[in-house]
Formats: sequence, C-alpha cells, structure tokens
Amino acid sequence: MSPLFFREEDPFAPIEYGYRVEELVCRRKTKHQELVIFKSAYFGRVLVLDGVVQLTEKDEYLYHEMLAHVPLHAHPLPTDVLIIGGGDGGTLREVLKHETVKRAVVVEMDTEVVQACREFFPAVAVGFADPRTQLVEMDGAEYLARARGEFDLILVDSTDPVGPAQSLFTTSCFSRAFSALKADGMFVAQTESLHFHGDFVSRVQRGLGEVFGLVKLYTAPLATYAGNWWTFSIASKRHDPEHVRRSCQLPTRYYAEDVHRHAFLPGSLYRRLVEEG
Ligand code: SAM
Repeated sequence: MSPLFFREEDPFAPIEYGYRVEELVCRRKTKHQELVIFKSAYFGRVLVLDGVVQLTEKDEYLYHEMLAHVPLHAHPLPTDVLIIGGGDGGTLREVLKHETVKRAVVVEMDTEVVQACREFFPAVAVGFADPRTQLVEMDGAEYLARARGEFDLILVDSTDPVGPAQSLFTTSCFSRAFSALKADGMFVAQTESLHFHGDFVSRVQRGLGEVFGLVKLYTAPLATYAGNWWTFSIASKRHDPEHVRRSCQLPTRYYAEDVHRHAFLPGSLYRRLVEEG
C-alpha cells in the first residue's frame, strides 16, 4: 500500500479498485490474515483483510441490513441466530435490533478482527457488548458439523469464497447448515456479484437446491465490493423468504418492506442469469 493510495488486490475479481488514503489507522498481522484499516475522505474508515476491502463506514449499512433483515423479517419468530464470519459486527448489530432474538452466536475464525473492529469501528461492532451475543473462535464449517436443530437462522457473512471461506460454500456445508436449523429455519449467505461471479452464484443456488426445498436469490447495490450487483442466496425449510412475515418497525437506512419484496430477482432474470448462466 502506498502512503497515499490503496489498490485492492482481490483474487476473486477481474477488476482492481483504488482508494485515496487520508491516513493509515492500523496495520497488523493476525494469526490468519493481514488486517489494515485506513481512512478515506469519502468512505471514512475502511477495513481490509488480505488486500480485500471488507467494509467502509460509508456503505456498510446496505450490505449488513440486507444480509440480516431479509431473513429476520421473513421468519415468523427468530430467536436463535447463528452468524458465521461477520467479525466486524455489522450483521450482529442488525440482528440484535430484533427484540425476538434471544441468542446471537458469532462463529468467527479470527477474533483479532473482532478486537480491531471494537477498537476502530465501535459503532459497527457495538453488538459484541450485548449480553445476547456469544462469540466463538472457530471455523464455521466445523461448528456446523456439531450443531443440531438449534437455530432459526444461519447467516454466512464471510470473506470471498477463496481460502478459509471456501468450505462454507460446499454442498456438504449446506447439509450441515440444514441439520443445524430448526424445522422452519432459513439459511442465507453473501454470494458475490452477478456481474462477475454468475457461475459461482449458479453453483451455490444449485447446491442449496440439493438440500433445501426453497431457494431464492436477492440482491443489493453496493458501492465498494467488486462487481457491485451483490447477491444473497437464501434457502428455507418451510417459509417463502420473499414474504415479509413481521412488519418492519426498526431504524434502518435501506431495508424496508417494499425493498424486501423488490430485492428478489424476477423469474425471467433468474432463469437467464442463474439457470441458463
Ligand atoms: N462483509 C464482508 C465481505 O463480504 O467482504 C465480510 C466481512 S467479515 C470481516 C468476514 C469474516 O469472515 C472475516 O473476519 C474472516 O475471518 C471470517 N471467515 C472467513 N472464513 C471463515 C470460516 N470458514 N469460518 C469462520 N469465519 C470465517
């Protein structure tokens, strides 16, 4: 990283984004990855792991609200929620806005990410101080192998599906997630960009379809992840996730009931982009 410019090195993207750097806030090697936080005049603080941007203060709410509130509003009574990855705490913050949630387990393989985010992104990592939160330092796929019928929702908020996060996107991991869910549980994972990763999105949709009865795709427009047209793959045992079951009365900046309904890919686009690839 030059003192004035950060060029993202994302092995999963065919494009490189660059940021003008106002200040280098923190640079450390954790046990698992290189962690950098810098400040940009436009995006505020930016978290980078192994050269890939994970969040910016400017637009993190879009991603975290959509990952959390779509399944949380589609489920009739979510009480037990599992987040895999998510060490910055943004998804956790949104999950804990729901009073129905009694337990939020965050399974993060690298708790040094949590420590850094509590220090440098306190407004994002606020949920780690909540008594409903349990933080477990472990690989998400391993954790799922031991869990049985415990969770209403499983949210995968991982890094790109290369390296350690790869194991979270296999059919065997989806089967483990199915077993870890209660009878009306739902699973959702961030699944990259429709522009750049159509094949990956199709593969995840097919893999989930081998395990769950109901599989859908919704998207959100993000400024800072390569490809921007970001996808979330959602799978459900019983309830249609497109249907809003509990009205939204929470403070949100992007998520709303009509946003929920319009976020799902229309059938013709789904067939063209995902099924026919
Ligand atoms: N929203 C972000 C994105 O899409 O770029 C992800 C943010 S969050 C910081 C991602 C976290 O997933 C990282 O802290 C990383 O340590 C964690 N992670 C990656 N693979 C994992 C695995 N197999 N089990 C548990 N945590 C994992």
